[in-house]
Amino acid sequence: MLLKNNIESIKDIVNKSNILTDEAELYCYAEDSSNADAASKAPDAVVFVETIEEVRRILRYANANKIPVIARGAGTNMVGACTCPHGGIVLNFSRMNKILDFNPVNMTMTVQPGVVLGDIKKLAEQNGLFYPPDPSNFKVSTIGGSIAQSSGGAVAFKYGTTKDYILSLTVILADGTIMKLGSNTIKDAVGYHLNQLIIGSEGTLAIVVEAELKLIPKPEAKRTIAGYFDSIEDAVEGVNNILKNRIFPSTIDFMDNNSIKTVEQFYPCGLQTEKEAMLLVDIDGFETSMNYQQSLVIKALESAGASFIKVALTEEDIERIWTARRSSFAATAQLAPDVLSDDIIVPRTSIAKMVRGCKDICDKYDLNVCMVGHLGDGNLHPQIAINLENEEEFKRYFLAKSEIYNLAITLNGTISAEHGVGIEKIEYIGNIIDNSAIEYMKQVKKLFDPNNILNPGKIFKM
Ligand SMILES: Cc1cc2nc3c(=O)[nH]c(=O)nc-3n(C[C@H](O)[C@H](O)[C@H](O)COP(=O)(O)OP(=O)(O)OC[C@H]3O[C@@H](n4cnc5c(N)ncnc54)[C@H](O)[C@@H]3O)c2cc1C
Repeated sequence: MLLKNNIESIKDIVNKSNILTDEAELYCYAEDSSNADAASKAPDAVVFVETIEEVRRILRYANANKIPVIARGAGTNMVGACTCPHGGIVLNFSRMNKILDFNPVNMTMTVQPGVVLGDIKKLAEQNGLFYPPDPSNFKVSTIGGSIAQSSGGAVAFKYGTTKDYILSLTVILADGTIMKLGSNTIKDAVGYHLNQLIIGSEGTLAIVVEAELKLIPKPEAKRTIAGYFDSIEDAVEGVNNILKNRIFPSTIDFMDNNSIKTVEQFYPCGLQTEKEAMLLVDIDGFETSMNYQQSLVIKALESAGASFIKVALTEEDIERIWTARRSSFAATAQLAPDVLSDDIIVPRTSIAKMVRGCKDICDKYDLNVCMVGHLGDGNLHPQIAINLENEEEFKRYFLAKSEIYNLAITLNGTISAEHGVGIEKIEYIGNIIDNSAIEYMKQVKKLFDPNNILNPGKIFKM
């Protein structure tokens, strides 16, 4: 709990109107998109920071007084990563939301942490360039949160994740030290890559105050091919056939029957609701290659038994089918008061077993699951519609979640592909990472943040 004099000291650093301390306002910051149980504790103060110097001074003050500091972008992470189990100060980055520099020749963009991903993508695309990482909610999530979670998304299959598009970061350590990590160049072989250590560290090692992003040329054309199947196994065979034919789609996404039906009800757009599985395959490249790539994909899907195939050619048609896919979380939310979305990944050879196993586990515990995923990567998002106030149902969910993780690990996969650990998966990381590796991670944390003020209680217990 912050004392009155702590609040007064923070008011000396930032404009008074940039601090929230009212209980009702703080309550809004107790949660993120995770529905995490431990998220019921609100911070003691929320500070809307506007400059690097303000962030630096707040960190120095918080470190000297051992006050937790939790950075917050749009609060859309799924793992309780920006909740405040120990109270403290939330740094709200929504006012550090400027694109500081755009260099189309170097193909770089320098941004503040509060810039929304959609704005980065838009500016790049207006200039024939492309910033690929695309968590499904890119229209609201920020680059700061995305760096801290190393967000992926549908096109990660071909284009990689956030970690592949960060050239340099300016960060502030817990004691207020400012560091520039990485360089402005496309390649850099000087020293340890500390910027890569910060990416995915969930705000536990340093606060990002500026980032230089790498952009790539935007592919000239894109098409989306929706292939429907009567079994999950056939859909997975479709993925394998595409790759065997040496096609490299930007995306191979997936929806199961329950997702198809739920989305169609929420956002009617002509999905085939009687089919067991749908693959959404995006091909991109030169316009002249589109028909050729399309015919190979269709052949691959047909030879796996696709029973219906539809091609979206125009931008409007592509946008419509992708809006449907991106709406799957919101659509699942119509089925029950809450949705818990998970994020497991297995090698491609185990995808069918994982999808089937996940459905069987949810059936066994009588849970309503809508499965979506990035099948090109083997990354599945089981979205479970649930009433968190029903204790008995929540207990069943907990058992199912444990079994799903065990299955992923047995199939040589892991328990998070792109959402991170936060507080949601803290109990499980020992099942997948060696104790000795966790000990090294803790030593790294102690080096960066000896007083454990940066997002304490996340990733692992210190
Ligand atoms: C409907 C939906 C769909 C999604 N789909 C995907 C998907 O397909 N792929 C995917 O990868 N993710 C997905 N996500 C997860 C989410 O989009 C990402 O985790 C997101 O990038 C987080 O951004 P944010 O601004 O909301 O960050 P927040 O949730 O506010 O914060 C996330 C983490 O970043 C830290 N942080 C924030 N700003 C900073 C900073 N300046 N410095 C240091 N740390 C900071 C926070 O402390 C926290 O630990 C989805 C989420 C939703 C709700």
